[in-house]
Amino acid sequence: MEDLQGELRALTAGIRTHLEARARAGLLGVSRAPCPRMNRAGDEPANALATPAAEVQPLTDPADLETAFASDSEPPLPHAGHGLTLVRAELGDCQRCKLAKGRKHIVFGTGNPEAHLMFVGEGPGADEDAQGEPFVGAAGQLLTKMIQAMHLAREDVYICNVIKCRPPGNRDPEPDEVAACEPFLKKQIAVVQPRVIVALGKFAAHLLTGEHTPITRLRGNLKHYQGIPVMPTYHPAFLLRDESRKGEAWHDLKEVMALLKHMGV
Ligand code: SF4
Repeated sequence: MEDLQGELRALTAGIRTHLEARARAGLLGVSRAPCPRMNRAGDEPANALATPAAEVQPLTDPADLETAFASDSEPPLPHAGHGLTLVRAELGDCQRCKLAKGRKHIVFGTGNPEAHLMFVGEGPGADEDAQGEPFVGAAGQLLTKMIQAMHLAREDVYICNVIKCRPPGNRDPEPDEVAACEPFLKKQIAVVQPRVIVALGKFAAHLLTGEHTPITRLRGNLKHYQGIPVMPTYHPAFLLRDESRKGEAWHDLKEVMALLKHMGV
C-alpha cells in the first residue's frame, strides 16, 4: 500500500511538473486528441496539408494547477521551461531597436519548451502582434496544418521568430533590428535544445545557416546551426502566395520526419 501511495505521489509530481512547464511556456491547454507519432509505418496522410486540427481543452485557470496538484513537497522547476521564463524576463519591455515603437505585443514564442522540433520564422504580422503569439494568422493556420501533417500538434513543437516585434507594414526586418533581436532567438535555441530546426523563409534560413543564397536554392538542403541540423524551407506566407511550391515544402518536412525517426525521437 505504501509503495502504491509513493508511486501515486511521484506520478502526481510528474504531471504537475509537466503542466507547470506548459503553463510557463504559455500553453494553458491540454490536447485531448491522441498524440500520434511520426514513426508509424506508412501513415503519411493522403492530403498531407489538410489534416484537421487537434481539439484543445483549455484549463479554466492557471491557478487550477495549484489546487489540482497541491502537495507538501514542491518538485524542482523544469529546466527548459524555467530557462525560457528567464530569457523572456531578460527581454522585458524591450526597447533595443526601433520596432518597439509600433508594436502592440512582443511575440516571444510558444510551444513545448522541451521540443525535439523547433520552427523559426521571420517576424510577427498583424494577427500575431495583436495576439502576442507567433503564427496565428493565415500563414499560421497553414503552419499548423504542416505540423499536423508531420503527425505532431502545435503543442509538441516550439515556434518562434527571428524578430519579436512586428515591422511596420510587414516590411522586411532591417539589419540593425535583426542584430538587436537575434541574441534572444539564440538563447531560446540554447534553452530548448531542439534536435532539429526548420527555418521558415530566407531570414531564418540565412541567419541560422550563415549562407545567403536564395531560399529557392537553399531549401531542402540540410545545414547546421551550432551542431543542430537545420532544414531551410519556404515560409508559409510564401506558400499562400504560390501554392505550386507546397510540394517542395512537404518534401523538406518529410526529410525532417525521416531525420527525427533516424534519431529515434
Ligand atoms: S524586435 Fe527584438 S530587439 Fe527590437 S524591440 Fe522587439 S524584442 Fe527588442
